[in-house]
Amino acid sequence: MVATPLGNLQDISPRAVDILGRVAAIAAEDTRHSQRLLDACGIRTRLIALHEHNEQAAAGQVLRLLEAGESVALVSDAGTPAVSDPGARAVARVREAGFAVVAIPGPCAAVAALSISGFGERGFRFVGFLPPRSAARRSAIEALRADPDALVFYEAPHRVAECVADLCAVLEPARRILIARELTKLHEQSVVLALAAAGEWLAADANRLRGEFVLVVEGAPPAEGLGVEAERVLTLLLAEVPLKVAARLAAEITGAPKNALYARALALRGG
Ligand code: SAM
Repeated sequence: MVATPLGNLQDISPRAVDILGRVAAIAAEDTRHSQRLLDACGIRTRLIALHEHNEQAAAGQVLRLLEAGESVALVSDAGTPAVSDPGARAVARVREAGFAVVAIPGPCAAVAALSISGFGERGFRFVGFLPPRSAARRSAIEALRADPDALVFYEAPHRVAECVADLCAVLEPARRILIARELTKLHEQSVVLALAAAGEWLAADANRLRGEFVLVVEGAPPAEGLGVEAERVLTLLLAEVPLKVAARLAAEITGAPKNALYARALALRGG
């Protein structure tokens, strides 16, 4: 699984170039797109199409090569394959057949954006693309509302304004968001601001709605007191499992902060 540049060709690693040049074939999401990268790197390896619509059949082709003792690389159009991109089903098939799968790590838009957000210290949740329709999108955001981790979204340019509006409507307007567009490219731009100000920022210049976007929203602010649901789940779990496990499970189930649950569990046990 070979990561390729998000835009800047210099981001391809020497190891990626080496591997792409040595394998028997490269399975690629869009062969014409990947051909340009190979040409730029002076690589002549043949390409096989492996995309959303033919992944099972193409995985069969990959397996036949592996069974013949060859190695195959898999790339997507940009970034890390199988991350909001084709490849995961092929990886599963190859593993099931008993072959090794190796990562040649490199660019990934989600991680690149997270690294410049300043929100990733506690952890992050990669959400990828939210549903395209507003009602479904708002419910998906609602389900993430209490998550203390930073939330990482991919979004298409024609939906970024409505997506930001829904994030602002469902989450606290004071929460900060990183809007990163065209990472590593000529018109790269990133800004951190409160959700309440994000819509206005996007609307201020038509260029700000162009290109490829990653949105990173900071995690939920720590709760003052735990909600009724977190308290209820914690109490039930405390009756059944050790204190630490109860706090961890309650955090996973309810999305409430683990530290607060742990402190509350100590208090409840003490009582
Ligand atoms: N597998 C890829 C990766 O590792 O980042 C992501 C593939 S996903 C189909 C494409 C989405 O990634 C875009 O719609 C955009 O949200 C994000 N993306 C890709 N390249 C980007 C870039 N240069 N700047 C900002 N976002 C980017």
